Amino acid sequence: MSASRAEPTLGCVTAPGPENVLIVGGGVAALEAMLALRARAGEAPHITLLAPDREFVLRASAVLEPFARGTTRRVPLTEITAHHGVHLVSDALAEVRPDEHVVVTRSGTEHAYGTLLIALGTVPEDPFPGAITFAGFGQREAIEEVLAEAVAGKIQSIAFVIPPGTSWPLPLYELAMLTEAHLREHGAPPVRLVVVTPEERPLAIFGEAASEDLEARLEDCAIELHTLTRPRDHADGVLHLAGGSSLHADRAIAFPRLHGPRIAGLPHDDDGYIRVDDHQRVVGVPDVYAAGDCTAFPLKQGGIASQQADAAAASIALALGASSEAAPFEPVLRGLLLTGDEPSYFRAYPGTERPPSTVAINAPSLRQEHAPNVAAHRPLWWPPSKVAGHYLGAFLAHEHEPGGEPGHLEDREVPDQPEGAAAREERRAALDLALLMAEGEAGVGDYRAALRALDAAEALAGALPEEYVQKRELWDNELHGRPGSRYAGG
Ligand SMILES: Cc1cc2nc3c(=O)[nH]c(=O)nc-3n(C[C@H](O)[C@H](O)[C@H](O)COP(=O)(O)OP(=O)(O)OC[C@H]3O[C@@H](n4cnc5c(N)ncnc54)[C@H](O)[C@@H]3O)c2cc1C
Repeated sequence: MSASRAEPTLGCVTAPGPENVLIVGGGVAALEAMLALRARAGEAPHITLLAPDREFVLRASAVLEPFARGTTRRVPLTEITAHHGVHLVSDALAEVRPDEHVVVTRSGTEHAYGTLLIALGTVPEDPFPGAITFAGFGQREAIEEVLAEAVAGKIQSIAFVIPPGTSWPLPLYELAMLTEAHLREHGAPPVRLVVVTPEERPLAIFGEAASEDLEARLEDCAIELHTLTRPRDHADGVLHLAGGSSLHADRAIAFPRLHGPRIAGLPHDDDGYIRVDDHQRVVGVPDVYAAGDCTAFPLKQGGIASQQADAAAASIALALGASSEAAPFEPVLRGLLLTGDEPSYFRAYPGTERPPSTVAINAPSLRQEHAPNVAAHRPLWWPPSKVAGHYLGAFLAHEHEPGGEPGHLEDREVPDQPEGAAAREERRAALDLALLMAEGEAGVGDYRAALRALDAAEALAGALPEEYVQKRELWDNELHGRPGSRYAGG
């Protein structure tokens, strides 16, 4: 089937041909692909980003918000696109017409493309009746209410539930441990905290070392763990489980079930996900690529989405003649677990086979010919961002640096020895120093340098102490000449 190319009419972009690249989405994969394509192909491609959002929102940092340990990281999309010479269209994709090389938006506008990259993420839905669904945005108040009830002694038990089919369960463990730290620090009466998961062991996807590390942490926090367990519904303080048993839980906080975006005009699997080859080309559709959670790859995770975006950008750069080779997508799973104390870092090498849909997490598919899967309490990659993207992670880590020239993500050697007390003490001293430097810079009105020092402190600790979360917002407002802060006067 030969595709007839329409003359692109993308905003101010008029040149025909594959160098007119339309990236759809405003999340992790879309931005990583945009940055990677600029880095690989320079100014040659005319890149347009089509997204309904005004801001890029780093949902991975949303777990900290209800605990006042951090704010969800947000960057105006215009700031990123303008900096990289990318045209931004604020609209949403409704349909792709591959034979015409045209997309139609929800507002009814048609845009021609030479090369199309789809990065739409997933569609969340409530996992079971009665659950408080935590999808990383819009649930802050609901979680804060649960915490307030627990601190006031109005509820005695909370279940954190990972529904079957969840490929990235890590944030639910973070929520459970951050809840325990919050309740302890706020002098709450005893509250039973339970994690319910279909996994065989917690974070089995990262292998044995990670499971052991997490099991020890959960035990230290007296958080009960129910593995190989699936929820049915939650009502009247009871979590009903598949198989007929139940457990008492005044509140049940759960991850959503995710589906693919089912884009009209593009082939998708039964769950609505797009099938791609290992260069992220949509199977059977010329000049169309897809990356991130919207693809049929089973792991829905930001670092993985970034790696897919990098592979897509490399493939597009090759097709444009801007480079001579394009490496395929070879997944490396990196996870930073926030705990309320020092964080854990995990690295693993997942296989590329889609696990059977009845199995939530497919640990045995980890590829052993790579370096072994590891867990450590020191960063296993640098910069140690939560979403370990080659370009986006570095962009976010260097946002406060003059020039903002992004670095690159690099894996670090696995420490030979478990970290001893002396090394931990050294790291605490470095953290204190970074915070002191931040205070000093803010004191002389250099808010950019102060924010940079806070970035360094966050990298060391995983999350900032509460008062510095507030200071970060104040200083950021000062830097950008914005009035006030939601913490001001508090
Ligand atoms: C609470 C939580 C914690 C997490 N923690 C981590 C973590 O620690 N580490 C990690 O690596 N990952 C983490 N993740 C997963 C990570 O956030 C996702 O895997 C990642 O965002 C996927 O990137 P994406 O670009 O595919 O999708 P998204 O980031 O979801 O982006 C999709 C984009 O498409 C846009 N869009 C949707 N529909 C349309 C349309 N019709 N037209 C145009 N645009 C559209 C959306 O507005 C959005 O901008 C976490 C997720 C959650 C919810």
